[in-house]
Amino acid sequence: MEMLCKDPAEEIKQLQRCNNDLVSLLALPALCTGGDSSQIARTLVDVLQRMLSLELVYVVLKDPLAEMPEEFARVTQSALQPREIGAELQRLLGDDPQKWPSRASRRFVDKDLSIVPARLGLHGEIGMVVVGTERSDFPSQTEELILRMATNQAAIALRETRLLNEQKRVAEELDQRVAQRTKELASANQELQLQVGLLQLIPVAAWTILPNGTTDFVNNIWLEYTGQELDYVLSTPAAWMTVVHPDDRDVASTTFWEGIRTGQGFAMETRFRRIQDGAYRWHLNRAVALRDPNGKVVKFVGTSTDIDDQKKAQDTLRNTQAELANMTRATTMGQLTASIAHEVNQPLSGIITNAGTCLRMLDAHPPNIEGARETANRTIRDGNRASEVVMRLRALFSKRQAVTEPVDLNEAAMEVVALLLSQLQKCDVMLRSDFDEDLPLIVGDRVQLQQVIMNLLQNACDAMSNVHDRSRQLLIQTHRDDGGNVRLMVQDNGTGLDPEAVNRVFDPFYTTKNGGMGIGLSVSRSIIENHQGRIWVKPNDGPGATFSFSIPLSAGRTIRETLVNLTPRSAATNVREIAQNLDE
Ligand code: ADP
Repeated sequence: MEMLCKDPAEEIKQLQRCNNDLVSLLALPALCTGGDSSQIARTLVDVLQRMLSLELVYVVLKDPLAEMPEEFARVTQSALQPREIGAELQRLLGDDPQKWPSRASRRFVDKDLSIVPARLGLHGEIGMVVVGTERSDFPSQTEELILRMATNQAAIALRETRLLNEQKRVAEELDQRVAQRTKELASANQELQLQVGLLQLIPVAAWTILPNGTTDFVNNIWLEYTGQELDYVLSTPAAWMTVVHPDDRDVASTTFWEGIRTGQGFAMETRFRRIQDGAYRWHLNRAVALRDPNGKVVKFVGTSTDIDDQKKAQDTLRNTQAELANMTRATTMGQLTASIAHEVNQPLSGIITNAGTCLRMLDAHPPNIEGARETANRTIRDGNRASEVVMRLRALFSKRQAVTEPVDLNEAAMEVVALLLSQLQKCDVMLRSDFDEDLPLIVGDRVQLQQVIMNLLQNACDAMSNVHDRSRQLLIQTHRDDGGNVRLMVQDNGTGLDPEAVNRVFDPFYTTKNGGMGIGLSVSRSIIENHQGRIWVKPNDGPGATFSFSIPLSAGRTIRETLVNLTPRSAATNVREIAQNLDE
């Protein structure tokens, strides 16, 4: 995903493609729910190859249930099978994937490739991904980020699929056992006694219900779990209802009676109270009908399985996924800003050159009116182009409506820091963080605030990139100030700012960087002001600068939806006026 290419149209197309790919990456876990893991692996291979233009993509999945690991691969101009590719990689990188280097240059088939392995799951317990290209500078930071995001998303999808399959398998197995017993028992009443014995043995709560809905048997596991006495259960209709969570009772009762009345049995999730600690835990309750040879229901046989842990694991997975989605939004925004900066700079330098030419033509004796008009027109065209780019940028920012939610600024900042960690290392920056542990929550838009923090950290890194005579030190700090505000401060020991710059850094388009756009701090200011806050900078006593923002604690405010208030049209408007004057 090299974004900075020559042709703006091509670049926009590339950005769109890249955005689409990111969206499909994020949708991966949702798409694959109920699907199988090979489908996820194939999608991962596709997405990686498309986004990173790879010569080699190889995915191996370790499935504890399968005998052989599953392998997937794609190599350009080669008919090698995934298994052969896997063997070749082991020959090149070593037998134990856990010990593979994080990056290697190897001769693979007949090409020299930069090879990068990545783990699926924290310790590669789900599998491994290996990518390779002929580019010697692979992977760039962006590519590394994409690789990490793609493998993370795939790992989430794979884990969720496995969990669901396992749950399904257990449920089916139980169903099967019960169905088999049903068949065998339908013939003889004597057998029923045996079945009761069996229900005592199976390792989940089990019970039987008469066609009129009264309980006629429960096993010991049920009694131990709920603390109920057998006599009580058998003599009291719907005794089981007293251990159901009050919020689940209505649904449980409706489903139960519907299943009994129709003779179809039921499957439902309810929370039961565990006597041991009083905790309500989720259970999957299934009942199937036992019929006599004429098809008449003799009784219902059922089980209640504690699925609370699985349910919690799924919730955690879903939350992780949401977090990742948030981060991706924040990073994508940063990358887009960088490439749009590049795009807008071209027309801007065009405007300056043309305006200069125009003035010279007017100053000539006699003035070259025709030439001046033409250059003025060219200037208008460039101005409009720049303005379009900025409009697109604004649209991008405002597409996402500002949301107000309680935000833990420490946590938001830590996520951004985690995201930038490898970049900081690469730039030899020593980061110190000093987060106030008692920091109160503020109300605001978490992703927007993360954009501000990311921008401050990136600027600080830029400001230190020319420092060679001292170690590059970066401090990020949060605290609650005397005025009831929450504050975040980013301090660097970089080149610093002169007094004139201090007054201008928050102006749109003020930049001192080659290829900078000067929009980051102005957007940051809009965001902070929309949070009723303030952002400012102070030169340090020693080298460097300190940027800070503060957000008031008063809750329940509404944040204005409009976010960016730039005036991109002024340049074009000015030039248009010059042209009109010439025409007169
Ligand atoms: P950009 O990074 O594209 O230039 P910003 O609006 O983020 O746009 O920053 C504007 C300008 O402010 C930068 O070009 C730089 O001159 C100055 N600046 C920002 N942060 C720092 C810093 N930490 N130290 C010194 N100068 C800074």
